[in-house]
Formats: sequence, C-alpha cells, structure tokens
Amino acid sequence: MDVHSIRKDFYILVNSDLVYLDNAASSLKPKPVIDMINFYNERLGVNVHRGVYRLSHEATELYEGAREKVAKLLNCRFEEVVFTRGTSSALNLVASSLGMQIIELGDEIITSELEHHSSMLPWQNVARKKNAKLVFVPLDEDKRITVENFKKVLSDKTKVVALNYISNAMGYITPIKEIIRLAHEKGAIVIVDSAQAAPHMPIDVKDLDCDFLAFSGHKMCGPTGIGVLYGKHHLLQTMEPVEFGGDMIDTVELSCATFKETPYKFETGTPIIGGAIGLGAAIDYINSIGYDFIMQQDNILRDYMLQEMKNINGITIYNPKTDTGIVSFNIDGVHPHDAATVFDQENVAIRAGHHCAQPLMRCLNQVATIRASTYFYNTKEDIDRFIQAIHKAKAFFDSFI
Ligand code: PMP
Repeated sequence: MDVHSIRKDFYILVNSDLVYLDNAASSLKPKPVIDMINFYNERLGVNVHRGVYRLSHEATELYEGAREKVAKLLNCRFEEVVFTRGTSSALNLVASSLGMQIIELGDEIITSELEHHSSMLPWQNVARKKNAKLVFVPLDEDKRITVENFKKVLSDKTKVVALNYISNAMGYITPIKEIIRLAHEKGAIVIVDSAQAAPHMPIDVKDLDCDFLAFSGHKMCGPTGIGVLYGKHHLLQTMEPVEFGGDMIDTVELSCATFKETPYKFETGTPIIGGAIGLGAAIDYINSIGYDFIMQQDNILRDYMLQEMKNINGITIYNPKTDTGIVSFNIDGVHPHDAATVFDQENVAIRAGHHCAQPLMRCLNQVATIRASTYFYNTKEDIDRFIQAIHKAKAFFDSFI
C-alpha cells in the first residue's frame, strides 16, 4: 500500500498544499465515497422502503446493503445495526430509551472524566432525572482509564458503564474488553463510544461482548450526518423508541400504534439514505486500505511526531504515551487559539480547544489544548510541516516577550 497513491483519492490533498491533522474531528472524504453519494443523488434521489418502482427498490438495496456492510464490519447481525445521525445521537438513543427504562433511584452509572461530552452528558441527564449516581473511574497519572481503577468503582449498584474505546483528546486505547467482562459479572450494561476507534482499528462486537457501541461515518471517510448504534438484539428489542412518526410503525390507531421490529422502530421518518449509502462506500474504501495499514501508519506517524516534538523546548505534551496518532500539547505561555492562527497561516489544520472534553481539560489544568491527529493518508512530510509550524508559532510569540 503506497500512501502517495492513496492521497490521489483525496481532492484537497492533490489540489492544495494543506497539511490536514484534524482527523479526530473529521476525516477527509475520498473520491469513491463522493462518487457513490453523487450516484444516489443524481441517478436515484428517491425514497426507500415505501416505493414500488424500480428506482426506489434500487435505493432500498443500497441503503440496506450499507447496513449489511456495517454488520460485517462489526461482526454482528443485520438487525443489530441502527442508523443514527452520528455517535452523539446513537449514545443519546441508548440513554433516553434503555437508560430511562432501567435506571432507578440509587443505581450507579460508571463513566469517566476522559469522556467526550457525548458519552457523558446523556447519562448525566438520566442520573439527574432518576436520582441515580454518576461514578467516575479515577484516571491514572497519565489520565488513562485502567482496569485496576475501574475495579475500584465497580459495585453491585453498577447498572450501566459508558466509556470510550479511544479517547479523542488523549488518544489512549481503553482496555475495554476486560472492563466489559468485569461489568458483566455485576450484570451491568456496557456502552462503548467508538467514534475514534472505528476509523482506526478493527472492531468485533462479538469478541468484545459489548452491549452497545456507537460510531460516526464522518470520521472514517464517510459523510456527515450518518452514524451507527450497534446493540445486542435482545436489548434493542426491549427498548422503546424515542422518536415517533413515519416509517417506524406497523399499525396506527387513533390512540395507539404498534411499531416495527428493530432496527426500524428507531429510524423514524425518511432515513438518512444518502448518508448510509455513503457510509457503505466508506466501509468498502476502508476495507480496501485495510486496518493493518491504517494502524501501521498511525504508529509510524505518532512515533515520528513525538520524536520531533520532544526536541522542541517550550512545549508541553499532555499525552507523550499516546496509543494512536492523537497528540495533545500546548506551546508554553501561548493560548492554543492564538497558536492555531499561526498553524492556519502555514496551512496546517489542527484543532485548538477543549475537544468536547471539558472535565479532562480540568484534570490537565488547562482550558484548552492543541490537538494534532493523523490518518492513513498523512505523511512524514506533513509532520515536518507541522513541526515547522510549531517553530514559527514559537518564534512569533517569543518576539513579544
Ligand atoms: N465521542 C468521541 C470520542 C468523539 O471523538 C466524538 C466526535 N468528536 C463524538 C463522540 C461525537 O461524535 P459526533 O460529533 O459525530 O456525534
């Protein structure tokens, strides 16, 4: 696999000198994915499920074909794949439906300060409404979730565990399989936020034995507006829909209605047809690249980036032991948003902010960090330009001292 030929699939990489290191926010979209979305819009453009004409059948086949691709990717059943708007809406769906059904006064919900807000806030809401208790896995000195620390908070009161698989702010891989095993010993349900994991590593939900798992299309070469909730079939069946309306019903009377089987009872209204079809194409594309290559690239680029950054005085790296291509840092004495403007002048796209992880920022005693995050189409030359941009930012702000 040659990264230079891969880059030809990405219009922006071919037609500009952009160094794109904001992949943890969203990945770039390759031509085959854009072509497939265009194909749906230009050649089909019609609704699914309800139509009795050829175009609608074809759109339905592509839409449901995308569900099959997701099922294959995750090693689960077709009916266990619910399409959502993204990770956030998938995680909210579990909390609003199952969470509100099973959580009772005094129950405990385990999460962590390392979570993206989307993994934590839906459970804050459930805890507040049900008078349950949110419990946080103590992070270790590197701000990691460890099995040892998870054991300290796991108890007979634990009903739900909601944790990330890979942290978007620190790039750590959570030892989720062992955590799931321990949680199940207590009868707890585990929801895995895989927004950062799905783009970067193979996921086998049977092997993990997680109860729910969520990810977004736009971080893995797919379009925005589409995501996935995987749920164990028997759990999805017990869950009530949270949105009601078209397409999700069997029969409707004036004062009651019956609903379709899962996953359709959760997909209210006209589905995200183009999005799902685009996600299907993205999965094909990722499979053609291969997770082996993706992980190898992440490791090579991470090692190179850290090695070069460690030679620069006056920067603080918050996760020098990151497991992935996500590096969080600050230039000492410079606000990350100010630094970001210099990166932008150099056409190096990075992210400055709290990364939707304000509790973690508090643990780091920072309001914000600069985050660089790689994907398989990045090169060592990209990292060189990023390092040069750090030097330029330092020189610029040093000139004011
Ligand atoms: N969890 C993690 C770990 C994330 O990185 C993100 C996206 N930054 C989300 C959840 C939310 O994903 P989305 O915005 O696609 O709903």
